[in-house]
Amino acid sequence: MNEQLKYLIQLQALENKKKALLKEKEEVPKKKASKEKEFNEFEAQYIMKKAELDNLRKLHRELEQQVSQLEQKLRRSREKEREVKTNKEYRALLREQEDLKHEIVEREDRILECMEKIETLSKEVRQLEKDVDKKRSELKSELERLDREFSEIDGKVELLEEMQIRVKEKLEPQYKKRCEFLMVRQGGVAVAPVEKGICKVCHVSLPPQQFIELQKDKSIMNCPHCHRFIYWPGHSEYVEAADEIVQKITVNAG
Ligand SMILES: [Zn+2]
Repeated sequence: MNEQLKYLIQLQALENKKKALLKEKEEVPKKKASKEKEFNEFEAQYIMKKAELDNLRKLHRELEQQVSQLEQKLRRSREKEREVKTNKEYRALLREQEDLKHEIVEREDRILECMEKIETLSKEVRQLEKDVDKKRSELKSELERLDREFSEIDGKVELLEEMQIRVKEKLEPQYKKRCEFLMVRQGGVAVAPVEKGICKVCHVSLPPQQFIELQKDKSIMNCPHCHRFIYWPGHSEYVEAADEIVQKITVNAG
């Protein structure tokens, strides 16, 4: 195993982990917004049902007021019976009383209907109220968990960067310089595995002779096409070294 190549691979592994964490961090506000939206939609259902219930209660009160006004009118009409002088007037009074009685019955039917609806809806609203409270506290802890995740990522990224500095210190200046240059110029990927003779980053085949040389692991080589440092994962010690260094961060920060 070439120690310098190992450090380059480790540096890349740390960079990949950092990128993955930063992507995760980017997702956190989106996750929070979607949780909030979900809750708001549920709460809107409750608010609508509650408004419906309030309207029914108002209607119920109005109908009862109307009934008591109609009953008052009916009493007055009955009191007038003593004052009437003609049959015609008397019949008119009776007709008026019939009409009033009909109106009262009609309102009382509606009151009953209203009361049934209020009973059913009250149960629904009470249940929804409980569900909303439960969901609200679930949302609160979920948001807190996401906030914690968000700040933990910062801590992990810091550790990764410290580790990168330490690995870079072990690199010979020419490799360090080249690696930094590639990181900037090649989208944060300076090291590429080559499998079955193909660079796994730019997907171009190496000349067969070069792939054979790479497998011999004698010197540090670059992809002839994308110029990244290359290694052969068949040398498992490189893969293990990369896993090991990333593991260290996860364990430390976890
Ligand atoms: Zn390449």
